[in-house]
Amino acid sequence: MAGSSRVGVLALQGDVREHVRVLTDLGADVVRVRRPDDLVGLGGLVLPGGESSVIDKLSRTFGLREPLREAIAAGLPVYGTCAGMILLADRIVDGIEGQQTFGGIDVTVRRNAFGGQAESFETDLDVPAITGAPVRAVFIRAPIVEEVGPAAETLAALPDGRVVAVAQGRLMATSFHPEMSGEDRFHRRFLDIVAA
Ligand code: GLN
Repeated sequence: MAGSSRVGVLALQGDVREHVRVLTDLGADVVRVRRPDDLVGLGGLVLPGGESSVIDKLSRTFGLREPLREAIAAGLPVYGTCAGMILLADRIVDGIEGQQTFGGIDVTVRRNAFGGQAESFETDLDVPAITGAPVRAVFIRAPIVEEVGPAAETLAALPDGRVVAVAQGRLMATSFHPEMSGEDRFHRRFLDIVAA
């Protein structure tokens, strides 16, 4: 399945290399997306972790914002981690002045939602949509999904109920970074959606 999929990783800023490695190891043909032309012929796209406000700005500078929004609206499978989750959210709280998202998932996301010492942490997470052992979830200045609208579905929440993974149609987003903990099941799920 994964062998013939050509997928992109948005490569404006962030942990691009980690995503490229996971996808390549799963047999995908991976393209780094920096210009609108790079989107042509892609079966799916990953939005990496990093700094969402920077990725937002660069996407406008490089003329990628509108083509990306069109591709998402047209049904392109997209998986976003952390900053990538923020970029996929329809609504954002605590963005920097003027910060925009690409949108696509009917959720409200709060940036940098874990203050103080809890800013970065790891935990084992049960994710019903992911079969097998619990997911080792790495959170780094992570966002939280504050509101899940009717079009979106919750994939995972912390024990206290805070939502950290969501999906809507061919879009999926996690607050944490599977690409940093050797966890490849979210990328497998993404490639399954691409192949479907
Ligand atoms: N805090 C970052 C942001 O607002 C996200 C951090 C991450 O991707 N690890 O975009």
